[in-house]
Amino acid sequence: MEKIKMTTPLVEMDGDEMTRILWKMIKDELLIPYIDLKTEYYDLGLEHRNETDDQVTVDSAMATKKYKVAVKCATITPNAARMSEYNLKQMWKSPNGTIRAILDGTVFRAPIVVKGIEPCVKNWKKPITIARHAYGDVYKGTEMKIPGAGKVELVYTAGDGAQTKELIHNFEGPGIVQGMHNLNSSIESFARSCFSYALDTKQDLWFATKDTISKKYDHTFKDIFQEIYDAEFDQKFKEAGIEYFYTLIDDAVARVMKSEGGYIWACKNYDGDVMSDMVSSAFGSLAMMTSVLVSPEGYYEYEAAHGTVQRHYYKHLKGEETSTNSVATIFAWTGALRKRGELDGNKELIEFADRLEKATIDTIEAGEMTKDLALITTIENPTVLSSEGFIKAIAKRL
Ligand code: NAP
Ligand code: MG
Repeated sequence: MEKIKMTTPLVEMDGDEMTRILWKMIKDELLIPYIDLKTEYYDLGLEHRNETDDQVTVDSAMATKKYKVAVKCATITPNAARMSEYNLKQMWKSPNGTIRAILDGTVFRAPIVVKGIEPCVKNWKKPITIARHAYGDVYKGTEMKIPGAGKVELVYTAGDGAQTKELIHNFEGPGIVQGMHNLNSSIESFARSCFSYALDTKQDLWFATKDTISKKYDHTFKDIFQEIYDAEFDQKFKEAGIEYFYTLIDDAVARVMKSEGGYIWACKNYDGDVMSDMVSSAFGSLAMMTSVLVSPEGYYEYEAAHGTVQRHYYKHLKGEETSTNSVATIFAWTGALRKRGELDGNKELIEFADRLEKATIDTIEAGEMTKDLALITTIENPTVLSSEGFIKAIAKRL
């Protein structure tokens, strides 16, 4: 068979631990045999980030601006334990945070729905797509430990030197503070990405914040969404027969639980981080969640929503067999290849992405799956495969 040609490279961001192992297997078994794979490779593995003082992360984001499409493996966000484990020069920031800050935009996460893996929220019939704002708030926060009594204030110094102050707290003893920000421009592009994505996929859009408590910060999100909706999208939504709906975050959580799914839930950065893990686990498995960062300029970065699956990696290092689910990582690749195909007018590449997704879903629906799915499937007597065995079973179907 002649391999499928690519005209423009994808930005390939390699990562850490078990997902790095899966990454190579996916390339070797499912991609390289069929595609003349063109990628610009960036090693975002923690060791290399440390060697390059994290410059490699910035470079990979800049390359995404150049080529427009990237595929990313899960990466370690260092904490105190990782500092000593990897002998790090610094506690490097989350690569995802760094990339998101450079590309801006919105992360859309949707569960991969297969027959035989039923959501544990029994009334959820359709996928719930979470749109996560990818800029600012606590991810760009500045924090301080307050050692003892004293006054903490917010100070804004305008261009002409005029200052506006707001008291945060008069401390009588030790405590903590956090300062965070967002930008109207980023909230505007978040709103536009969500409204456009709702129109593209013909799904209602829900948005929620805590505007009753946060009367300036969260309320600004609410106001910007409403202004953009009224000015640019109201008519289009009516024509498409879809709805934009704003409510308080607590009310949204309650309604989501009772809904049947089939809509996009727009969330602020932190809410999206937390709620996407809840939605994906309730739909079956964190390993069945796709994730794409869409920037307002039309840059796309595809990845799995889960982490590096550290516990499985340590088993792997001890020579034990693992059964790690590679579906979300495979769908990161197919998402990126399909988008590359769309941008380059490469029909064969688009069809290959479709076939690889179908082979993956068919494999699971035929009862061949990894342990995480075997534990929750309604299919009787599923075959539990190893990490490698599952990828090979997909390759056979492909
Ligand atoms: P994790 O990698 O998401 O895994 C947590 C647990 O969820 C696993 O131990 C496993 O449960 C289950 N799981 C997740 N993905 C799975 C898969 N593909 N197949 C089977 N089971 C899966 O989170 P973590 O182990 O807490 O975090 C490890 C590292 O990932 C951290 O250093 C964190 O910084 C990083 N992280 C990266 C990203 C990203 O790059 N996007 C996102 C989140 C976390 P069992 O152990 O019960 O089998
Ligand atoms: Mg998370």
